[in-house]
Amino acid sequence: MDIKIWFLGAARGVTGSQYVVEANKQRIMIDCGYYQERALQDRNWQPFKIPAEQLDAVLLTHAHLDHCGLIPKLAKEGLRAKIYCTSATGDIAKIVMNDSAKIQEEDAAYKKKRHKREGRKGKYPEVPLFTMQDAERVGGLMSYATFKTPVRIADGFEATFFESGHILGAASILLKVTVGSKSRTILFSGDIGRNNVPILRDPTIFTGGADYVVMESTYGDREHPEAGDIHEQLATVVNRAHAEGGNVIIPSFAVERSQELMYYLGELLEQKRIPPTMVFVDSPMAVRVTDVFRRHPELFDAETLERLNKGNHPCDFPSLKMSRTTAQSKAINSIRGTIIVIAGSGMCTGGRIKHHLKANMGRPENTILFVGYQAQGTLGRQILEGVQKVRLHGEFHPVRAHVAQIHGFSGHAGKSELMHWITALKSKPRKIFITHGEEEVAINFAQAVQREMGVPCLAPEYASRHSLD
Ligand SMILES: [Zn+2]
Repeated sequence: MDIKIWFLGAARGVTGSQYVVEANKQRIMIDCGYYQERALQDRNWQPFKIPAEQLDAVLLTHAHLDHCGLIPKLAKEGLRAKIYCTSATGDIAKIVMNDSAKIQEEDAAYKKKRHKREGRKGKYPEVPLFTMQDAERVGGLMSYATFKTPVRIADGFEATFFESGHILGAASILLKVTVGSKSRTILFSGDIGRNNVPILRDPTIFTGGADYVVMESTYGDREHPEAGDIHEQLATVVNRAHAEGGNVIIPSFAVERSQELMYYLGELLEQKRIPPTMVFVDSPMAVRVTDVFRRHPELFDAETLERLNKGNHPCDFPSLKMSRTTAQSKAINSIRGTIIVIAGSGMCTGGRIKHHLKANMGRPENTILFVGYQAQGTLGRQILEGVQKVRLHGEFHPVRAHVAQIHGFSGHAGKSELMHWITALKSKPRKIFITHGEEEVAINFAQAVQREMGVPCLAPEYASRHSLD
């Protein structure tokens, strides 16, 4: 068999997912993500190892930036091949890529101005990595795949998408490669979600077989801490805010987490576990992503469908207000009485959340509520760690509000869930590649899988190429 696989991203790192499979003189790329890890961001600017015009198809597992974020750069550099993804992934990816291109354009303009003022040249060129026009072009190349339905994507290549339970539309992809009279299957896990999260169905467990597996390992070294009841934790925070006459400000990611919050808050309101409360979603991106959720009820799990059939949409309730314009956003601060504001960015590094923090964190009756991971060095992390004052828009502001955190929200399977996913394969793969994890995590998880399964398992190095026989 003459099949080769290149690991061109998320190899001994978490972001920048990018793999290429070659056979029959065809080249298929799986994901083309943006490098978000600070130490690896240079790679975003490096030329693609395989030029865009030489690709015969692109497969996209899901719409997170570290999986789709460099597709506009492919488009800019002459991609002609189709991009296969589910329609929900396509809808969300367009929003994510557009937002990212806008930031690229703004950053480049800002850099240009600053460098001119300082009379120097920066590390990166003063042009955007890609523009909104490039991101726009990507939509025209998309071809939508339906879950569990094989689609022929190139000469000797067939791809089937399966739900991975990670975010709306997210998939694991089974790629069947036929060379002459022989075939091999390669299973790309994508990002594997968790069981029993709101809205989404559980991740697909592959009980059949695959000749090769490329598997993520984000949480390959740890379990999620015992979460407790999310409803309970959320109700406690909101009820205290009502008792004290304060607001609840929630920094949140636009994709999935914001919609999960709407789901939980909608249930608490309906069950009267919290008093009637206005909930504002103040993030243009979250508002647009929520519209995508509303268009895809076919992807909801049984519980959510049951709720929908009773007339309760998972991302809608009477006191939910979507704030689209700047004027609507500003008006929120003049409302009296307890309100809840969900705004981005999730780690308080930018976006409208900064205005809400400024307006609310100085008063002890308010609560800043964290529902996601806060990376080292972010404003969110500083507040979570309990600093007395933080710098916001160039000035110091005291933090006197309650700071609370809800555990239990996560889009990624923990270590034992990952192990369960891979060991469910009945016929053993010839080889397993562990990717999408920090270097040490990926290597250790690969060893653990090898011990458990008794098949060769490795964490491939960046830009390494492997023959699949
Ligand atoms: Zn993801």
